[in-house]
Amino acid sequence: MILKPGAMIGIIGGGQLGRMLAIAAGRLGYGTIVLDPQENSPAFQFANAKILAEYDDENALRELASAVDVITYEFENVPVNALQTIEADNPVHPNTKALSTSQDRLVEKTFFNNLGISTAPFFNVESADDLNDALKKLGNKGILKTRRMGYDGKGQVRVRLEDAGSLKVARELTTTFPCILEGFVDFEREISVIAARGIDGKVQTFDLGENVHKEGILHTTTIPANVTDETTKRANEIAHTVLNALNYVGVIGIEFFVLSDGSLLVNEFAPRVHNSGHWTEAACAISQFEQHIRAVTGNPLGLTTRHSNCIMENLIGEDMLRVPEILNMSDTHLHLYGKRQMRAGRKMGHFTVLSSRKS
Ligand code: AMP
Repeated sequence: MILKPGAMIGIIGGGQLGRMLAIAAGRLGYGTIVLDPQENSPAFQFANAKILAEYDDENALRELASAVDVITYEFENVPVNALQTIEADNPVHPNTKALSTSQDRLVEKTFFNNLGISTAPFFNVESADDLNDALKKLGNKGILKTRRMGYDGKGQVRVRLEDAGSLKVARELTTTFPCILEGFVDFEREISVIAARGIDGKVQTFDLGENVHKEGILHTTTIPANVTDETTKRANEIAHTVLNALNYVGVIGIEFFVLSDGSLLVNEFAPRVHNSGHWTEAACAISQFEQHIRAVTGNPLGLTTRHSNCIMENLIGEDMLRVPEILNMSDTHLHLYGKRQMRAGRKMGHFTVLSSRKS
């Protein structure tokens, strides 16, 4: 069913992604109600109404469900149980299978491997003994990651057997949270694909972006990514496989490591619009945000044609001081998130510099 303009979309999470979804929804004539526990959430500034409540507040979720025609979310740590209570009677896109798969790194990587999609080698680690065993199998080094709630490099330790300090921190982490130990990947570059699947099962992929991280947080995304046609084809194939396997509706972000021979290992997926897709609002007729709103409202997906090359850069913390300079740059699309307080590590906005398309 296609929702008509005037229909209401519920968005769980009121950060910058929820805000950009609310703007895109408004442009297509839809209204939004945003649920978030924080009074000054960036998305509230563009929503028709807000519900101030915790994400696992079942009464608040029911109130949201009763007031909207479809529910979506802007981050992957929404409690699945709470969402399942409303999913039976109300459309939730992407579905809770996609959400729960993405929430646990062990489940997520197993899901990829079962589809024939390669990841870094990994082992379940629930104790210091498990950690020792896994380290031996991975050549005495690896990255320990909490299975749940990790993002932007949080909940991760690089560990080497000969480095007592890292071993101590890693041991402590394993006694606090279930983890996985992942093999170090000696990648050549990191890329991501932003893709979408509509209610009719059709899939569209945006051009691949090449990502550079600083201190675990995305710094820049460059389009086009410097990869071969074969690598591009494989990344798009993986996007199709994952979206179809999950019977997914909406936008997904899938992150990859590219090895020196051009082959790909999947790192993770996000069941939502993704920071590495922000460039689409500047370099494509249809942004990832509009694409997501089109998908969840049952509309046909837009074509993902790109008119320019570009580089998107995040404005983190004090990078906000660069805004006057950025406003004087040509062919530059600036997007600020309306956050009042500048804090170290906080995503305040981003900008995308366009250049003519050569490839
Ligand atoms: P993640 O939270 O898994 O997305 O990891 C954040 C960043 O850490 C990635 O974008 C990579 O730059 C780096 N990283 C994560 N896992 C690995 C790995 N297995 N080998 C090498 N680098 C990694």
